[in-house]
Amino acid sequence: MYDARMELFDCAVGQRVRYKENGQPATIKQLWRAQGQIELEFANGQRLRVAPRLVEPLDDAVGVRKPKRPCPQCGADMGDAARCPTCGFEYRQAKTKRAPVWLWVLVILIVIGALVAWKFLGAR
Ligand SMILES: [Zn+2]
Repeated sequence: MYDARMELFDCAVGQRVRYKENGQPATIKQLWRAQGQIELEFANGQRLRVAPRLVEPLDDAVGVRKPKRPCPQCGADMGDAARCPTCGFEYRQAKTKRAPVWLWVLVILIVIGALVAWKFLGAR
């Protein structure tokens, strides 16, 4: 999970944040530098002065801060994803041949089997 600790100098008036105590999004309305506090306004109009470490940045527009990287195959914006959301092009898998699905299923079954056996033997 995202757990950025904000300091007063990270905060700006008008910035959108999430108040960690109740999980509610809020807008920073004022900075109280002398007190080391920020004043939040919630969607219901309630205002609260809190320490900056009690909030975390809220990305209203998803992807705005992500670096833009066009897909070499179709040109769609891939952000920082390894797989293109539009055409399915994958950077890491492009050169190497993909392992067949049955192999993954086999590996998962072996792992689950080992865990079950370990639990069963450990319970005795
Ligand atoms: Zn693509």
